[in-house]
Amino acid sequence: MAMPRNTAEWFLTRAAIFFENLTEAVIVVAPSGDVVFYNQACVDLTGLREPGNVYDPETNLLLYPDRRPVPQEERPIVRLLAGETVKDANYIVLRPDGTERRAVFNGADVALDGDTVIVATLRDVTEAHKKEELGRDTIHIVSHDLRNPLAVISAQARILKDSLTSMGLCREAKGMEEISKAADRMARLIQILVDSTKETPKPWAIYGEPVHLCALARRLADRLNSIQPGKRVRVEAPDPVPHIWADSSRVGQVLENLVNNALKYSPPETPVVVRVVPGEAVVTVSVTDRGTGIPQEEIPKLFQRFYRGSSCRGPEGLGLGLYIARRTVQDYGGEIWVESVPGQGSTFSFSLPVRQRTGVPSENQETQSQGG
Ligand code: ADP
Repeated sequence: MAMPRNTAEWFLTRAAIFFENLTEAVIVVAPSGDVVFYNQACVDLTGLREPGNVYDPETNLLLYPDRRPVPQEERPIVRLLAGETVKDANYIVLRPDGTERRAVFNGADVALDGDTVIVATLRDVTEAHKKEELGRDTIHIVSHDLRNPLAVISAQARILKDSLTSMGLCREAKGMEEISKAADRMARLIQILVDSTKETPKPWAIYGEPVHLCALARRLADRLNSIQPGKRVRVEAPDPVPHIWADSSRVGQVLENLVNNALKYSPPETPVVVRVVPGEAVVTVSVTDRGTGIPQEEIPKLFQRFYRGSSCRGPEGLGLGLYIARRTVQDYGGEIWVESVPGQGSTFSFSLPVRQRTGVPSENQETQSQGG
């Protein structure tokens, strides 16, 4: 379709002056797929000097971050032209000289004179990406080097504890037990740190299986009640509850983080209640404690990386549990939130979409098949 007429022309002429001075790459594409405008930053980023057409099979400019070539029908501008939304999408841009840049793509359709043009931006994040990778590598190397000596400390402390106990030296044996527990705690913190550096899986890499949240919650409660004094974790779940579609170990990790926090941030004599509530389109799981609660002004920051609130007492914790939980829940199309009354307690909830509502084995069947 010919581009542009009247308003569209007016828009492009004026917008061009503005776009030309932007540091972000800007591309404007007509409904035909023809690139009708691109600024200097776009030339600098992509190295392309010829406008071209986004449907041209010869132009293969983009890779996904895992280096898979982006097929023609998945090109972001092609998707936008097809009416899809593309927001903060990460790509590797291959330049004609063989070098590559990391870029974040955003775009929108703009209706002008009955035509729809696509206005897209590419932000060069190559340097930020390099720094992030360096940070990730450092954490991996350091944690790898720390894990082995920690495992030795923990194992030796256990052996010594047993020897001291058999010699009747109970106070010394208790000290050894503390050393071994502290080493285990440190190993857990290192694991959390490593987990937090993992890149969010890409949609095609997200593994899914049917997950019965009631069974998951009951198994977790049984396990925690068998190792924690007071059997504090209670599960309230109706039967049957439709299954959701996710990786059960990752969702289990989310629930465990929330329940461990609830145990950690509430008095030892109070219960922690896990509720599973089926809805039309989602299943919601909530974890309620009668703990310190969270001041209102801290709530928006809770899910940020490394954020630790005023309720955190004691040394254990890195401020990563809720950050990882949110990332996981969002990977599976869900939401996570918190309601809290300071001094009375908190309820952390997450909801995940129901995939199929028929032909699903009941939760009891699943529990039995797992011997639970
Ligand atoms: P961590 O527990 O390691 O500090 P999290 O990311 O799990 O990290 O939690 C972030 C912060 O949220 C905590 O430092 C704490 O202040 C607050 N928080 C989390 N869960 C609760 C809870 N159940 N009750 C009160 N505060 C909580």
